[in-house]
Amino acid sequence: NAPNPRDLWHARAADRIAAGIDGRMLVNGQRFNATDGDLFDCISPIDGKVIARVARGKQADVDRAVEAARAAFNDRRWAGRPPAARKKVMLAFAERMRAARDELALLETLDMGKPIRNSLSTDVPAAARCIQWFGEAVDKIYDEIAPTGHDALALVTREPVGVVGAIVPWNYPMLMASWKLGPALAAGNSVVLKPSEKSPLTALRLAELALEAGLPEGVFNVVPGYGHEAGEALALHMDVDAIGFTGSTRTGRRMLDYASRSNLKRVYNELGGKSANIVFADFDDLDRAAATAAGSMFYNQGESCNAPSRLLVEEGIADAFVAKLKALAPQYAPADPLDPKTVLGALVDEGQTRTVMGYIEAGLAEGAACVAGGCRALEHTGGQYVEPTVFDHVRNSMKIAREEIFGPVLSVIRFKTEAEAVALANASDYGLHAGVWTRHIDRAVRVSRALHVGTVHVNQYDEDDITVPFGGVKQSGNGRDKSLHAFDKYTELKTTWMRI
Ligand code: NAD
Repeated sequence: NAPNPRDLWHARAADRIAAGIDGRMLVNGQRFNATDGDLFDCISPIDGKVIARVARGKQADVDRAVEAARAAFNDRRWAGRPPAARKKVMLAFAERMRAARDELALLETLDMGKPIRNSLSTDVPAAARCIQWFGEAVDKIYDEIAPTGHDALALVTREPVGVVGAIVPWNYPMLMASWKLGPALAAGNSVVLKPSEKSPLTALRLAELALEAGLPEGVFNVVPGYGHEAGEALALHMDVDAIGFTGSTRTGRRMLDYASRSNLKRVYNELGGKSANIVFADFDDLDRAAATAAGSMFYNQGESCNAPSRLLVEEGIADAFVAKLKALAPQYAPADPLDPKTVLGALVDEGQTRTVMGYIEAGLAEGAACVAGGCRALEHTGGQYVEPTVFDHVRNSMKIAREEIFGPVLSVIRFKTEAEAVALANASDYGLHAGVWTRHIDRAVRVSRALHVGTVHVNQYDEDDITVPFGGVKQSGNGRDKSLHAFDKYTELKTTWMRI
């Protein structure tokens, strides 16, 4: 009898934990405990058990990492290599990530609770592709000569910014780290990465793989720790040139404050969202629209910045559409993340479960109709599970429509006219993504252009590619990850006038 795939992953997880997961920071190519020896527990949301003890980096550790990064940058051991040589190392790094797919996927799932199928099929391959893509891009970018018409040349070159502090969240730990590492490393910078205290494990492993691939010591350092300790120390550091931040709008605001209180370092914020997905009655394939609305919302347990958490449905089709969502919800029943059949796993920690349940209570208290879910699940496991939840008759002024929940909670808001739909969609502090479902090309164009967001999806919500920019407007942030535009964050333009 072939072992059941779920048992197999549990056996691998048990072996990996028993072998000991190294939670020491990685600075200048070496593993260290925190200077003061402090540690924090890494708790798996699958069952509430401690899976590793991780170095709790603080000011002294960040100082040490920034010093190593600065030394690596100053002696040009990485930045000074030709782009094609950096490319070679980046490609080897991506290959090592692919070769370590099972191990990275297991760590990611144990650490933050996402289904193993997603870690295997999306998170690891997408992170590796990101590293590869930026590596491949870097020897195809030309500098410029400005058309001044003078008898002196004006060279406009792209230079690495220097030492980059990358501070990333827990929802896609490896992928968000890669979105910073890809362009920052390819461009020749040194990086100090501060992963989320809720999911530090894959970042540490990535740094080891990069070293094995030939990245020089000191170029990529990882200091795990808490936001108010290691995160604050890094963002306030006088010798960090830029911060690539992904996380909540609340912390993004702090990043700007830290920069203004220190050295005016560049701050690039990729922040929260409350994306509107608008379904017009003229769209003829409501089954597909409903399946995509549910699938995109409940993917990653709803812990996605671009989750289409406000579903705007035209009044005439709203009852039928909500009935479809209700019928779809059980397909997303939370289950064991280590079972390859599971599509909705565990929320990242107990605090997140409390936050999500608080929003569900707020929705009920404000008079929204809960038509699916609404409860915790699988409590006997000791893990963090919440049912996929659908609220109907939500008003855009309600807390569940205004604030990012970051859990599997979908709010259906009914509208009557196109103008009302656009106004509702734009009536948000956020501006990350939006969806539009219509068969009328003129409406698709008109509404897409009127939406004040970074990305619009027409008649789908799941397309994604490393070649396209990702980021938001308003309080969803500034700057763009992915695509060649991401190099803008990690390079500075330099003008050199030359008369010979
Ligand atoms: P968070 O803001 O709590 O934490 C993000 C990172 O910042 C973590 O590493 C954390 O330790 C650190 N941090 C927290 N407080 C800090 C402080 N005072 N000083 C310095 N660093 C601090 O966010 P989170 O809960 O980890 O992540 C979820 C958020 O990330 C959501 O709002 C989500 O929308 C957003 N997100 C955005 C994108 C995007 O591309 N726009 C992508 C993924 C996630």
